[in-house]
Amino acid sequence: MRVDLTKAERKKLLMQLIAGDLPDARGRYGPFGGRYVPETLVPTLERMERGVHESLSDETFLGELDRELKQWVGRPTPLTFAGRLSRRWGVEVYLKREDLAHTGAHKINNALGQALLARRLGAQRVIAETGAGQHGVAAAAACARVDIPCTVYMGAVDIERQAPNVDRMYQLGATLVPVQSGDRTLRAAIDEAFRDWVSNHDNSYYLLGSAVGPHPYPYLVQRLQSVIGTEARAQILAMTDALPDAAFACVGGGSNAIGLFHPLLADESIELIGIEAGGRGTGLGHNAATLATGRPGVLHGSYSILLYDDDGQIQETHSVSAGLDYPGVGPEHALLQATGRVRYVSATDTEALEAVHECCSAEGILPALESAHALVGARNWARENPGKRIVIGLSGRGDKDQPTLSQQSSDTNDTVEQPRSLTVP
Ligand SMILES: *Cc1c(COP(=O)(O)O)cnc(C)c1O
Repeated sequence: MRVDLTKAERKKLLMQLIAGDLPDARGRYGPFGGRYVPETLVPTLERMERGVHESLSDETFLGELDRELKQWVGRPTPLTFAGRLSRRWGVEVYLKREDLAHTGAHKINNALGQALLARRLGAQRVIAETGAGQHGVAAAAACARVDIPCTVYMGAVDIERQAPNVDRMYQLGATLVPVQSGDRTLRAAIDEAFRDWVSNHDNSYYLLGSAVGPHPYPYLVQRLQSVIGTEARAQILAMTDALPDAAFACVGGGSNAIGLFHPLLADESIELIGIEAGGRGTGLGHNAATLATGRPGVLHGSYSILLYDDDGQIQETHSVSAGLDYPGVGPEHALLQATGRVRYVSATDTEALEAVHECCSAEGILPALESAHALVGARNWARENPGKRIVIGLSGRGDKDQPTLSQQSSDTNDTVEQPRSLTVP
């Protein structure tokens, strides 16, 4: 099922989005977005919304953010010409290297910006939730840098599975709260973090990790992550004197993808393609391909596209990459799909694992399993579009995936062919 918009409505909404007129006053991206939260949080979100608009138009705030992005995060991240992948795929491949940002992924761009905002709004503590621990680590690091205490909610099951990230959060001074309720993973952690926020909204700031949640979070996260696309656009123009023909990014909640895509929306000649987790294949529960197979509904404060069954129960999702394993997606992506400006496809676990190996052996870069989904989408597109020039958002590095990677190769050694070629022409 899709939210039906006429052709004229789609065109109008896309023009409004590009002009910066969306989200509207009610926090909506056309039919999507909004603010579905308990009554007690509405004044807090309204106060935050004013703070977001003031901060993002204040030279002092933007100056400090910019300085910290340079000095502490290590921006701008490079745009790397991938010569050997280019020869293999028959297109010119450029990788936007968020794997080289501090803490190893794009998440730090958002965590830093929101930690600075929390301090500016006078919060005495920051609340965050984390699944695999990547956002928890980024939030803990940013809060240490900004000097504000950080409490991270994490499912008890995830704490056991993600020991290295748990250690990093402790080292960075965060207070970790194990969540024993519900499914004891990310969804339960979000519920508990929300409960904390509802009780402590007077003195606490909720640092959300992706382009999801109630207004103004999807807008704020887009603004903070747009540094990716703004840099990439300037870099490819400087390197090649031309814009790319297409850009690719993986989509979990959608923050790295919106960061790459949003600054390119007005360049109509650039095809934009988001890649979701196709997991083990089609069928509810086997993947996290929300936009490909989901339906409209409300999750975590926002109206968007979700995965739920006929009884309205949110579905368990599966992906080999923890960062894409989420049953919802940000409202701006739901609108971009509805307008047709961005196309969303999926890549399976097996394809993503092969792409990790291919990128390692061809370019000497170990990408995150999440980012490998974008590589798969790009490689498939390249088959139909020889000779074109493309940018791929490499959202993070794969060091964190070592246990999964070695597990997978020992699991599949006897039964499945190894990636066809580990040597590259
Ligand atoms: C968390 C994560 C993602 C998915 O989150 P988005 O909000 O969709 O970007 C993708 N890649 C990496 C490396 C991540 O850590």
